[in-house]
Amino acid sequence: MILTFNIKYGRDFSGELRKAKQIAEFALKTHTLSSKDVKQFGLKSIIANQILRKYSKNKTIKRVNHVNLTIPNQGVRVDEEKKEIYIPSLKLTLNYNFRNDFEKINQIELDEQYAHVSVTVPEKPMIEPKAWIGVDRNATGHIAVAANPQTGKIWKLGRKAEHIHKKYREIRRKLQKAGKHGLLKRIKNREGNIMTDLNHKVSRKIIEIAKENDAGIKLEKLDGIRNNNKHAKSFDYGLNTWSFYRLQEFIEYKAGLEGIPLTYVEPENTSKECSRCVYMGIGEDKSFRCPHCGHVDHADVNASFSIALRPPSVGGVGQSRVDRDAREGSTDTPRGATPGTTETPEPPKLWRGEYVRRVKGV
Ligand SMILES: [Zn+2]
Repeated sequence: MILTFNIKYGRDFSGELRKAKQIAEFALKTHTLSSKDVKQFGLKSIIANQILRKYSKNKTIKRVNHVNLTIPNQGVRVDEEKKEIYIPSLKLTLNYNFRNDFEKINQIELDEQYAHVSVTVPEKPMIEPKAWIGVDRNATGHIAVAANPQTGKIWKLGRKAEHIHKKYREIRRKLQKAGKHGLLKRIKNREGNIMTDLNHKVSRKIIEIAKENDAGIKLEKLDGIRNNNKHAKSFDYGLNTWSFYRLQEFIEYKAGLEGIPLTYVEPENTSKECSRCVYMGIGEDKSFRCPHCGHVDHADVNASFSIALRPPSVGGVGQSRVDRDAREGSTDTPRGATPGTTETPEPPKLWRGEYVRRVKGV
């Protein structure tokens, strides 16, 4: 699997980027592949060569818009102990936080602010799931609730989220009122970072649960977020939406790395449909009650069971094209993670109502 990590590098390479664009324009005109021909532009040949290869050979590119500095694998040194990447041609040192078990760095692309480090990481073969864990991300007060219908076990994850939201909402409100916009922005960033951290932890836990249960993971399709129009434009709503996609993205790439099948189900009525008898139940705030079979449950728990028991939606597998923009401004997070879920095995046969619930009083 190829992952791309973005690292903010904090140096000014605008001169080099300008030269790179000139070389690309030159390449389009002359189709030269020799770095000697572009020596006059003064860009290191290892980088110039990458540009020539792209723009001299390609007959379909008509105009040069934006050119990044691309450093190939052989132009990169890695110190795994210090977790440093060194690019001799630019005398640039990058510190990385991602795991050391990558096979190699394929290349690094630099734009004005970020180094996009593309690494190949080993992927485990896809497991044959013996169960499916349903993950409800619309949980009240939690980031997610996971459930395994085969064992009846549930997991409530990211309980801190509600506390964090409340705390920061109050701080934001005060700063807004006082007109301290600079501080407000910093506070928003901090809240975002804390949420990212929490999403990392929750996604790790979900992967752990899936592994322990020999299970695949089921999520609601992207539009599964319960849209409350009244708040659609508020910062809270934006943060929640962003957090929702973020968690999905983390689960996707971590599942891909571990060979855990991941699939998506239709989101309609997961919270209203009884996970035991499929009839429509009555949801009141946090509780769920089914008038048909008498099933009573916490609304989020019922939803996570419903998700686990649903068939994969058509074309719902591998919906990894989440809103990449949501990550803008973040550093050192994987980009373009492609989960190994293009061929998700058929879920094991499960019949509603067959499982034994082991959790009481939720
Ligand atoms: Zn029921």
